Amino acid sequence: MSTKYIFVTGGVTSSLGKGIICASLGRLLVARGLKVTVQKLDPYINVDPGTMNPYEHGEVFVTDDGAETDLDLGHYERFLDIRTTQTNNVTTGRVYYDVINKERKGAYLGKTVQVIPHITDEIQSHVLKLGQSGNYDVVIVEIGGTVGDIESLPYIEAVRQLRYNVGRANTLSIHLTLIPYLSAAGELKTKPTQHSVKTLSESGLQPDILVCRTEYPLDESIRGKVARFCNVDLEDVIESIDARSIYEVPLLMQKEGLDTRVIEKLKLETHQPDLDQWIQFVDAVCNPSHEIEIALVGKYVEHHDSYKSIVEAFVHAGAMNDVKVSIRWIQSDNLDTNNVAQALSGVQGILVAPGFGGRGIEGKLSAVQYAREQKIPFFGICLGMQCAVIEYARNVCGLTEANSTEFDETTPHPIIDIMYDQKNIENMGGTMRLGKYNCSVIPNTFAYHAYGTDQVQERHRHRYEVNNEIRSVLSDNGLVFSGLNPERDLVEIVEIPQHPWFVGVQFHPELRSTASNPQALFVAFVKAAKKQAGFE
Ligand code: GLN
Repeated sequence: MSTKYIFVTGGVTSSLGKGIICASLGRLLVARGLKVTVQKLDPYINVDPGTMNPYEHGEVFVTDDGAETDLDLGHYERFLDIRTTQTNNVTTGRVYYDVINKERKGAYLGKTVQVIPHITDEIQSHVLKLGQSGNYDVVIVEIGGTVGDIESLPYIEAVRQLRYNVGRANTLSIHLTLIPYLSAAGELKTKPTQHSVKTLSESGLQPDILVCRTEYPLDESIRGKVARFCNVDLEDVIESIDARSIYEVPLLMQKEGLDTRVIEKLKLETHQPDLDQWIQFVDAVCNPSHEIEIALVGKYVEHHDSYKSIVEAFVHAGAMNDVKVSIRWIQSDNLDTNNVAQALSGVQGILVAPGFGGRGIEGKLSAVQYAREQKIPFFGICLGMQCAVIEYARNVCGLTEANSTEFDETTPHPIIDIMYDQKNIENMGGTMRLGKYNCSVIPNTFAYHAYGTDQVQERHRHRYEVNNEIRSVLSDNGLVFSGLNPERDLVEIVEIPQHPWFVGVQFHPELRSTASNPQALFVAFVKAAKKQAGFE
């Protein structure tokens, strides 16, 4: 069977949840035994989102192979329980970068290099790369942006050509659109969808299926109107109504027949979907026995998407522990030793988040100190772990001026220091210690109990590290290095044994948590917080 391609475009407005629809369709096809991956095409000029501010773009999702990618890849991994790679995310910046590099090497043999065909060919070759790997029955391609945007045009044109090149029967075009409800008129309105489909069709791409986001159920007459005006069959108008949880969306899409329409149109051979585990998971997410509250201390908390994978890892770990984890968002800029007790009172766990730069550091340090002294379960991730180490050095080891050289280059006690291979780096993009590295876990530690094994691999994104030259002061004073990178002897996990649960990790465990395989440290942290709440 040759690889089938499903292209998903979005219309009317952004933020309709195209990533969730792609991930949900992917889940349904995986549940039918197909091998599926999802690719995101992003129409911006950055080569990748790695250099973008979290306010701008939300979380940067790092893959096993060290690519800094769009946060939608996180949804794909969490829903499909797959691993994505650099190939799964392509931006306009990357496409142009590759084309310009080829041009400099003379690869175009003196031709004028143009958007059509050179840029559109390059886009096609990026899409085909996944199919040509031979690993997939279906590649779902999410096209970022909204139909009608100038930036999206080369992508739509590339898809139009690609449908022709690989054969119409091997491709499908799905358009995600909005049917808004006008309360003054008391009606759902189809006109924006009609216009969006018209714009798409003018570019040569007629959708085969319309997925319609709506706050209210779509009755037969609305569906009929959409079908008629947009030139699709009635059964190809799929309602996507607001769900209780994003993880319910695959089930709602199945009820609407999205997967059946797709397999019929693409003539895919599949078995009946096996969704038992997924149904159980959604039930656990939507009907937990208890609720606990965990503080998330960070400097980008106004923008929850900055911590997307952490939030989702809590959903997975919560379902596993039969609790709902509600997050108390704490802005670290406003936190200090005077108000920390009040700000964090009543929470059953404290997570200090990843981040870059010195803003809000003292607030994070006071949150660590509070968790350590009040014996509240604590989880420090990347910068959060570095804060835990600085706090320990200052308040337990007595090195009151200990710091990271990221915030104070002249500190007398650089307990966190830049990695030697990062010292002379000038280019910011893609140059951190990125991606999957080994970690040996020491037996009889919180980390070992959580993982149940002494060899793990986790993803990284950082330039600084516990300073090996002076790290013995920490262990001499009781901090346990429970995880080490065997190749470079770097500290990966620290913990305090005389505590209900106090763990800091240099890596990003949240990036490997999926609905079907919740990340072990998150599960253990939530379990400890549940115990702290007295639910056990
Ligand atoms: N700023 C820190 C470093 O570069 C931590 C990075 C992070 O939290 N991802 O090492």
